[in-house]
Amino acid sequence: MRLLRRIVAWLPLRGWVQFVSTLFANSYFLSGFKGFCYPVLNCWSCPTASFACPIGALQNSAAAARLSLRAGAPLASVIPFYVLGTLVLFSALFGRLMCGWLCPFGWFQELVGRRGKRLRIPGWTTYLRYVSLVVLVLVIPYYTGEAWFSKLCPMGALEGSIPQPLLQPDLRSQLGMMWYLKLAILAVTIAAAYVWRRPFCGAVCPLGAFFSLFVRYSAWQTRFDDRRCVDCQLCVRNCPQGIDPRRDVNSHACISCLECTKCPYDAIKSQPIWRDLLAKEAGTARRSGITCHEATEVCVGKPDCHTQDDSK
Ligand code: SF4
Ligand code: SF4
Ligand code: SF4
Repeated sequence: MRLLRRIVAWLPLRGWVQFVSTLFANSYFLSGFKGFCYPVLNCWSCPTASFACPIGALQNSAAAARLSLRAGAPLASVIPFYVLGTLVLFSALFGRLMCGWLCPFGWFQELVGRRGKRLRIPGWTTYLRYVSLVVLVLVIPYYTGEAWFSKLCPMGALEGSIPQPLLQPDLRSQLGMMWYLKLAILAVTIAAAYVWRRPFCGAVCPLGAFFSLFVRYSAWQTRFDDRRCVDCQLCVRNCPQGIDPRRDVNSHACISCLECTKCPYDAIKSQPIWRDLLAKEAGTARRSGITCHEATEVCVGKPDCHTQDDSK
């Protein structure tokens, strides 16, 4: 029992969810699902991968599109509706919760940085992710016909480039410069994750950039209530992305780790928007049911008078 408690305490709840998600994405026995996308960065060529990587699928579609269009294929046939639909659906429902709670590579960076310096990356670098999405995933693959993001992806190096030659000795003689370059990028990413918090997520990841486009409009929203805030700064200190959640609570750089919702004064809440709507409706119903102004004139006009709320 004591051992079990120690194991459970080894990781916070979010860490356990990330662990289970990583196992799910690499369960090996689910490999029949490799045609489906799991909305996280997890390399398709990993020997244990269960699903396709959405970024890999997007760039392969871009790489094949030019030849297909030249051969006279209609535009609609080269658009990867399935991958885009999956990503839009998940991000419209959950914003970036996939980054904070499910993604194996996000978790990997957190584990590397656990004993590191944990500095925050500069805010402007978060815009580089959009460059990575447009240039490395769409434009260059389209014009070269090759999946360039995968050639450089550190997650691909970790899950594909390292284990594949170990498991298949025939591959070793074919390893060239690109293999070493990819390993070097992984080494730099690991070193950076030791110094900065989630540097790849913050400055490079095209999948995170895609999710960020929906953060402000998704069905999952984080809200800040300034009436409850006592300005203790705990949320600012805890935010791994260097965001001040009091000013920019649904920032495009937010990875939805929900650390800021640990506010001791309950000033920050993250929940589906229908819970907001239900709470608002309940508040309206409560106010409209109040007849205090009929019962007594004493409170009418006072700052907390409900009849004033009704008139707003
Ligand atoms: S931004 Fe980070 S957590 Fe999100 S998909 Fe990319 S690697 Fe994963
Ligand atoms: S942790 Fe809560 S009370 Fe403290 S500054 Fe943040 S929102 Fe305000
Ligand atoms: S704003 Fe909150 S949810 Fe977003 S990254 Fe910072 S702590 Fe995590």
